[in-house]
Amino acid sequence: MKFTPEIYGIKDVPMQSFIDKDEIWDFIHSADTTETEIRRIISKSLNKQRLNLKEVASLVQTTEPELVNEIRKGAQMLKEKVYGNRIVLFAPLYVGNLCMNNCEYCGFKATNKEAQRTTLTKKELIDNVKALEQNGQKRLILVYGEHTSYTPEYIAETVKTVYGVKTGNGEIRRVNINAAPLEIEGFKTVREAGIGTYQVFQETYHPDAYKRYHTGGRKKNYDYRLTSLDRAQEAGLDDVGIGALFGLYDWRFEVLGLVRHTNHLEACYNVGPHTISFPRLQDAAHFKVDERYRVSDEEFTRIIAILRLAVPYTGMILTAREPEHIRKEVLKYGCSQIDAGTKIEMGAYAEVFGEKQDLNKEQFLINDERSLGDVIDELLDEDYLPSFCTACYRKGRTGEHFMEFSVPGFIKRFCTPNAILTLSEYIEDYAGQELASKGWQVIEKNVAKLNDDKLENSVRERIDRIKSGERDLYY
Ligand code: SAM
Ligand code: SF4
Repeated sequence: MKFTPEIYGIKDVPMQSFIDKDEIWDFIHSADTTETEIRRIISKSLNKQRLNLKEVASLVQTTEPELVNEIRKGAQMLKEKVYGNRIVLFAPLYVGNLCMNNCEYCGFKATNKEAQRTTLTKKELIDNVKALEQNGQKRLILVYGEHTSYTPEYIAETVKTVYGVKTGNGEIRRVNINAAPLEIEGFKTVREAGIGTYQVFQETYHPDAYKRYHTGGRKKNYDYRLTSLDRAQEAGLDDVGIGALFGLYDWRFEVLGLVRHTNHLEACYNVGPHTISFPRLQDAAHFKVDERYRVSDEEFTRIIAILRLAVPYTGMILTAREPEHIRKEVLKYGCSQIDAGTKIEMGAYAEVFGEKQDLNKEQFLINDERSLGDVIDELLDEDYLPSFCTACYRKGRTGEHFMEFSVPGFIKRFCTPNAILTLSEYIEDYAGQELASKGWQVIEKNVAKLNDDKLENSVRERIDRIKSGERDLYY
């Protein structure tokens, strides 16, 4: 599929702002929420077609419980039909929390003088990566505040350091980034360091709300942030992640904002976001959530179902900001990646500065503190296939999320076998006896489900090689 501006009737211009707040509110206020329309929209999405803003507005405005239930069911069907049962696992690693901005909701804001500020030294970074590798992690997202010390060259250097750390069979095979927006040259520098996805969250797509929450530093500039991933694309970095921080403004507006952003990237660069994130606001030092915009659990899980239907091809990331029971529910609606074994205090994986959750040491509080092993255990119980796959990115198959979605048989040929092989490695290297036996049973079941003798034999042969000590086998 080629995304041409004509598909959406959009006349977007690269590197220029694209959010029209009145247009978004008009879509919301004139939404058609009749039963016939909602059912038509759900089936359009189940036919793997992207929804337009008018259709997404209809979904966010639906309140009739039976229809809301159909939206949830639709997302669940889409997830099962397109993506199957794999869940990709990763961990965040906070590299530095110096910050010159003043985002009201964030514990790292410049005016929070009680925040303990640190940038990991090279040794501390290596120690943390070692600790993560010893737990079995293979994919990290490095997180940075916004500060003149965190130049593109510095970010690139930390990425290279992380890739260079090997412990036993442990290694990090994909490093993603969540950091401040860069200039085109800066994006080129971090791309050359071999990063996976570069995430920049708009936080709120509403320009006036944005202004209220961002009162200092470079992040004050709404348009500069909004066009940051255009600059990434101009730099040849086409693997980008968008996100909104739910709880800052009306969630219905933010959902349409995310979809409008997706339209813009498709229209201008013919590639949509690799991932969409939907962090929900958590307590942070010196911040009180505005109750008007607080997102309830019911709304939050509905938002995820709507986003799944709206952009059926994109990866959806859920983090440990959310408690276990919410994480369990929304996996059904198509979240494809979750973090596990998460610690967001600076240096905590290697216990550099002590481990306790403390608002002055971290950006916000998290609600799921289970270990990677515990999360894998639960995923196996729920019939998911945990995956640490990093194959596409290393094989140069860019746009894999889109291929998974659009190329028939892609998941069966590549994603499932790679999930099986990376889980086999995890079991061999890091799992206790009980988890291992559960894991091998799930692997056996998934190998049998491949339903293709040649592929099955090839996967079994590779599992045997992993059992005899080989590592990093992938399709
Ligand atoms: N400094 C970079 C930036 O602002 O883009 C890096 C990102 S920040 C460390 C990661 C993300 O955490 C932010 O983009 C924001 O969406 C989220 N965040 C900040 N404060 C939060 C809070 N109180 N609750 C939940 N998420 C929060
Ligand atoms: Fe700094 Fe990012 Fe926190 Fe804003 S969200 S204060 S830019 S770390």
